[in-house]
Amino acid sequence: MSHSIIATITDGTAGTLNAASARPSPVASPGGRHGESADVIIVGAGPSGSATAAYLAMAGLDVLLLEKAVFPREKVCGDGLTPRAVRELITLGIHTPAEDGWIKNHGLRIVGGGMRLELKWPDLASFPPYGLVRTRKDFDDILAKHAVWHGARLRESTNVTDPILDERTGAIIGVRAKALGPDGRPTGEDLVFRAPLVVAADGNSSRLSMSMSRPKRDDRPMGVAVRTYYTSPRHDDDYLESWLELWSKNDAGNRVLLPGYGWIFGVGDGTSNVGLGILNTSAAFGKVDYKDILSRWVDTLPAQWTFNEETMTGPVRGAALPMGFNRQPHYGRGLLLVGDAGGMVNPFNGEGIAYAMESGRLAAEVIAQAFARQSDAGREKVLQSYPRVMKDALGGYYTLGRGFAKMIGNPEVMRLAVKYGLPHTTMMRFLLKIMANLAEPHGGDAGDRLINALSKMAPAA
Ligand SMILES: Cc1cc2nc3c(=O)[nH]c(=O)nc-3n(C[C@H](O)[C@H](O)[C@H](O)COP(=O)(O)OP(=O)(O)OC[C@H]3O[C@@H](n4cnc5c(N)ncnc54)[C@H](O)[C@@H]3O)c2cc1C
Repeated sequence: MSHSIIATITDGTAGTLNAASARPSPVASPGGRHGESADVIIVGAGPSGSATAAYLAMAGLDVLLLEKAVFPREKVCGDGLTPRAVRELITLGIHTPAEDGWIKNHGLRIVGGGMRLELKWPDLASFPPYGLVRTRKDFDDILAKHAVWHGARLRESTNVTDPILDERTGAIIGVRAKALGPDGRPTGEDLVFRAPLVVAADGNSSRLSMSMSRPKRDDRPMGVAVRTYYTSPRHDDDYLESWLELWSKNDAGNRVLLPGYGWIFGVGDGTSNVGLGILNTSAAFGKVDYKDILSRWVDTLPAQWTFNEETMTGPVRGAALPMGFNRQPHYGRGLLLVGDAGGMVNPFNGEGIAYAMESGRLAAEVIAQAFARQSDAGREKVLQSYPRVMKDALGGYYTLGRGFAKMIGNPEVMRLAVKYGLPHTTMMRFLLKIMANLAEPHGGDAGDRLINALSKMAPAA
């Protein structure tokens, strides 16, 4: 690559920043000991990384997207997309017709307190009135291909191991990586990639953020969730289903309330994605066997749904849900965080894909503006605005979500909320809007205005 911005940074000398006017190369050049360069390196090609890469490529930047896996690959997830996530897909230009395997849902079915309540997604100007389900095996592959189609250079089987730091400033100026073979093991080939800006899109553990001294904050909610798939007649359910209470029976035959919240999402391919999550605000967090809870809950479900060991199509797998901006700052020393790396899962409902893509979109806007500046200082000033952009977009809402997560960690509060809340459809419609973050940003009804006012009033911490 020959953009002058690259020369500027790797040489450590000042120069002209003209990368925004350059067109991305559609062909990957080989990495290696001496380094492959780009305007921006993105580590991780999940929804946050691929969305960032696609938008940056659209803006004319040369983007290198490094991913340790090979697509298509499995990712532990509920596979559920709310209208907020669908809005991001539409904005990114990804079409989702049913004939291509996208299964639409019209709302959320809430089960609890002996009731089943079906709430349609709200009909708003700012969000489509439907959600989708798509396995992450397909979803992430589609997004990564979309980024490549726009000109990003995707390098799979590339495990990023360390940042390369500018000795003088301590800023990141590239990454070291190990090439992986078809068996996922290192081939022995060490790779070097250089760019003046690196985006950490490497998920919850974000090794890259850790090695740049950005650990998780433990004053933020964190969830753990497990899921599996069963072949089931419920596979084409056109509602997402959420269980607020999980019941089981003990050896004496008495009903026992299990910790956590469950979901059943029809995947449309003959299977249902069934799983549960537990928040760290719950006393049971970290002390229970999540797989055992899933199997005890599933055992109590109607036999005709066929959720049993014979119909299970894969193992129960779990992962963490980092919530409420649990890793900050979102920009510093040349490293910018998107998606789970920046702890961007919604504490109200555990949804992360919409926020991964949204942060990618907002990050790309900031980065494109930064690269259009004529000096390093000008570029840095723009990049420094990203944490504020994220806080303005989601900070107040996430502060409310933290309060909510704390509240529902108390089983008694949850019991009362289910008992007295569920029978009130109007209140539940309002709650759905809050929990799925689907308030009309401008105008809207009284509920929308209340949600916006509360989010604005709450400190964007
Ligand atoms: C059980 C479960 C159920 C969930 N259900 C839902 C749901 O139904 N709906 C929803 O919206 N959200 C759900 N989530 C949350 C959602 O999965 C995440 O928020 C989302 O995947 C975040 O996207 P991301 O791109 O930030 O990170 P990830 O999807 O984690 O992607 C990170 C990528 O980085 C790559 N990577 C990591 N380290 C390196 C490295 N060193 N070098 C190169 N590449 C690297 C990984 O291979 C991966 O491809 C669920 C989470 C769990 C655990």
